[in-house]
Amino acid sequence: MSFDIGSLGSGELIQLFDEASSCVPGLAVEIVRDQGLSHDIEKTTAILVGIGGPIPTIRFLDSLEREERIEAIAHELAHLVLIHRFGLRLIRQKHPYPADPKQDSFTRMSHNGFSLLGQIGNTAHHLILIDYLREQHGIGSYMQCRLLHRHFLSFAYQSYMLAKEAREDTESFYREGIIAFEYGKIFRRLDGVRNMPRQTDSFQKAVRAAETYFGKYGLQSLPTPPSYEEDVLSLLKDLGYERKDFVFFP
Ligand SMILES: [Zn+2]
Repeated sequence: MSFDIGSLGSGELIQLFDEASSCVPGLAVEIVRDQGLSHDIEKTTAILVGIGGPIPTIRFLDSLEREERIEAIAHELAHLVLIHRFGLRLIRQKHPYPADPKQDSFTRMSHNGFSLLGQIGNTAHHLILIDYLREQHGIGSYMQCRLLHRHFLSFAYQSYMLAKEAREDTESFYREGIIAFEYGKIFRRLDGVRNMPRQTDSFQKAVRAAETYFGKYGLQSLPTPPSYEEDVLSLLKDLGYERKDFVFFP
């Protein structure tokens, strides 16, 4: 259902919305019922759909309180500003897969590859976005940081269990490593993350790669679009993928 952001009575949010719509025409905001079903939206409380399409849409859960709604919508608007104004685009695999199954140089990812690629773009954005919202729009990211903290705590235990059961799925450990780096950087606890006990090699490799390429990212040290894309591709290369198999969008 379409949502009027004016009803939240936040001048800061309207200003940000105007800024985002000036580079993303057709932008829409929708409120959706929280049925406790959608895993992704639960973790993030809001999502962006149709990026690069005619009607890019921000969807957020109706269970959020007023302050949380402002934060959740602002967060997604800031992602759009970073993509469209700062030129920090998202990444996906080139597709379709080559018809020839013997052409095995093409990067194969597990079904979790999609969320790994999404996470790489998200993490690079978040290192800039939280300061951008606070300094340029006076909007906090308390809920976002709380969710990140909670995710990190539950992961530390889960990954240990998974590794112990030898059910390692490389892409999900890479993804957790990227999130752990984000947590360490935002909460200034990188030392702790680097030295987390009992983690898998994949996890540690991803933490190191993210730190190498995104370690300096921030609102005061914005990457240029070409250097950002180079960083993302180099990170993927360090994780064992072929640079040529990825494209940026929109
Ligand atoms: Zn985000």
